[in-house]
Amino acid sequence: MVEHCPFKAGVLGSSPSRLNPPARFPGKRGDVPARLLDGAAIATAIKNELEAGLVSLKSQGVVPGLAAVLVGDNPASQIYVRSKVKTCEALGIYSERIELPATTSTSELKRLVDELNARDTIDGILVQLPLPPQIDAKTILLSIDPSKDVDGLHPMNAGKLLSGRPGLVPCTPAGILEILDRSAIAIRGARAVVVGRSDMVGKPVAILLLHRHATVTVCHSQTRDLPAVTREADILVAAMGRAAMLTRPFIKPGATVIDVGTNRLSRPEEVKLAFHDPTAALEKLASKGSVLIGDVQPEDVREVAGAFTPVPGGVGPLTIAMLMSNTVRAARLRRGMQ
Ligand code: NDP
Repeated sequence: MVEHCPFKAGVLGSSPSRLNPPARFPGKRGDVPARLLDGAAIATAIKNELEAGLVSLKSQGVVPGLAAVLVGDNPASQIYVRSKVKTCEALGIYSERIELPATTSTSELKRLVDELNARDTIDGILVQLPLPPQIDAKTILLSIDPSKDVDGLHPMNAGKLLSGRPGLVPCTPAGILEILDRSAIAIRGARAVVVGRSDMVGKPVAILLLHRHATVTVCHSQTRDLPAVTREADILVAAMGRAAMLTRPFIKPGATVIDVGTNRLSRPEEVKLAFHDPTAALEKLASKGSVLIGDVQPEDVREVAGAFTPVPGGVGPLTIAMLMSNTVRAARLRRGMQ
């Protein structure tokens, strides 16, 4: 099974061939190797900083609490929720993992959210997406108390983000800004292109970059001549969920490329299409049953970019670190602490 299949109609059709990049896009930076932006190391640094804050909170009798709600048995969601709860345990954040059957209705889930809203020991409520189709996700996200909305998806927090007021910011976009800042990538005045316009990733990261004085373009599935737009980017954020779609012709030499995509390939023919040299990936597929790849072609980005986030080990670890950060922040804000 392929999550976020890159080979759906319209995806390969809209991108230049990854196997035979056109000669007019040489895209070589010369001898300088692209800098790998180590998301795992940055996430560890953030978690270490949080630990110090947690000790101080504990001395004041405050233990932040996170409730992670999982509906149904989506294997990827189970892994995400498990690793979020595990990170809470490692940091000393109180956590509850609440699992509901796939048949849960909107009103049943809303009742649970109402209970969690009312509980003082819970500072953050995370409802893992995607939800089963019978559940109205917008109703659920709207029912979460904005002060406990650690995913930053409530319209109240989205509005605060848009208007530059302090609030809870979605974790992945916040993590992307941490990667850029902690890697000393200049944002002010840079041309930034975000590919993807979801509420969770594309839109909020575009707003954050705009607030930091980048000149931002947001692209999506209807964008004409996508490579011409992305090649303008000093900072390119790929968040489409299309395996290895952004190849050499999409990347400006020397650009910083942030790859948000997490696509799991499970068939050899998909792996052969996604990698120029698929040998190592095919071995991984044989031993593990699947291969994780981002939205950016990994061999091209190493050759063309100035700096890039790998998949795995780039944006993913930051998403969890920022969830922890948001939970601690929510705990402080709810108690009127700075
Ligand atoms: P969505 O499916 O919600 O949004 C995808 C966006 O990409 C849409 O705006 C869509 O355009 C656009 N898009 C799709 N195909 C193309 C194309 N061919 N050309 C240009 N744009 C295209 O995805 P999410 O934002 O939730 O996630 C994006 C990726 O990031 C996924 O792989 C997801 O797994 C990953 N992710 C990773 C996280 C991490 O921690 N590493 C966290 C969150 C997400 P349109 O609006 O026109 O349909």
